[in-house]
Amino acid sequence: MRATAFVCLLAQGLLASACLTEEELRGFRHNLPILHRRQRAQTNKTNDGTIPRGLGDRFKNGTVAPRGIGSQTGANFTSFYSMDQIQSATLGLVNEFNLTYFELPLKTFENRTMYGLKMPGKAGPTVLLQAGIHARERGGPDHLINFVADLLWAQREGTGLVYGGMSYTAQDVLTALSHGLVVLPLVNPDGVAFDHATNGCWRKNRNPASARPNDTDATTGVDLNRNFASVWDFRKEMAPISDDILSVSDDPESEVFHGTAPLSEPEARNIDWVMDQMPDLRWMADLHSHATQILYAWGHDTNQVRDPSMNLLNRSYDGKRGAVPDDLAKGYVYAEYIEQQRLDRITILSSRVADGMLGAAGRSYTAQISVGLYPTTGVVTDHVMYRSLVDSSKKTADAITIEFGQYNRDALCSFYPTVPMHNFNMMDVGAGLMEFLLEAARLG
Ligand SMILES: [Zn+2]
Repeated sequence: MRATAFVCLLAQGLLASACLTEEELRGFRHNLPILHRRQRAQTNKTNDGTIPRGLGDRFKNGTVAPRGIGSQTGANFTSFYSMDQIQSATLGLVNEFNLTYFELPLKTFENRTMYGLKMPGKAGPTVLLQAGIHARERGGPDHLINFVADLLWAQREGTGLVYGGMSYTAQDVLTALSHGLVVLPLVNPDGVAFDHATNGCWRKNRNPASARPNDTDATTGVDLNRNFASVWDFRKEMAPISDDILSVSDDPESEVFHGTAPLSEPEARNIDWVMDQMPDLRWMADLHSHATQILYAWGHDTNQVRDPSMNLLNRSYDGKRGAVPDDLAKGYVYAEYIEQQRLDRITILSSRVADGMLGAAGRSYTAQISVGLYPTTGVVTDHVMYRSLVDSSKKTADAITIEFGQYNRDALCSFYPTVPMHNFNMMDVGAGLMEFLLEAARLG
């Protein structure tokens, strides 16, 4: 059985797809039933050549610290981290390196507690790193935890790091750690638990509040990366082009269902709470797969640097956003304001991350504005910027989405990598996050 094909670049249409399968992309373009019905029917088949889930607790209830692929030679990860291992690995780092472990205030629908770790720097913490918001994008939590582990091992031993073709000095390691980091290794625990249990290619969380009673399987869950506040109300704020091209939906059956209100989901509110705890927050990176792209603001429209009044808080532009290119005949003329210097910074940073990921394992990554992938709303990386627009007491912060890895065309779920893919992805993410932290340190 072949995987659902995944389209990263649709020829000259220049629409590309991240985090969605080709069928899902067609689905939300044409308002068709969405894919997971069929995928769920395949649930228990795991012998499709993808990396297996790790068994037992290799970190022995947090008494053994993980170590990544950049701080040791010849490492080969042959399984991905289970739910228990993600938490145990996090605790292993906390115990081995005397970090701060914290829990987030709201429980998930299935009563799980979200957690993170905090690492001191010279200032801050100024950087937030996050993984696991889309459940099926396997490897995100592993790569984030192992990258942090690499930094800490290298710092202790006074050495550098090597990610494939990319090498970093001991001084680079110290610079990368100078920000102070907050790390959220698993921000969709219910969805990931379900995906691990079913191998069902599950993307959303597991909130059934909007599920239709006679169709709960297909209508459970909210796409957490459409549930944040920035342009959440796409029916009002975006041009009425949504069912054709927008990657967001108010249909609970959709893989990109945005929930019932901005931050309606406890996972999203928890992430927003973490940002509140970081008054010096300046940079964020959110790990996804598998489009080999680095995405930066904005998701809902293109950028412009001339007219500060053309911005997402200006209600006179409601109903006009999202047309790319602008539709002059219909009056859909809009681009989001961003300061020139800020745009320059995030563009340069994103390109540097893409170059580093190319250098790791030789796979090409491209940096581009998020809306170039497809117009979307309510994403966490835009929310980081949105927060300082609605509350001027907050410092401005910028964010990127790292879409690591390539689709696995031979898997039942194209987001499940093989063992070699998983190891290449770990190298890519290691180099990408190193470049991200080094450039963020340079920019301040
Ligand atoms: Zn994703």
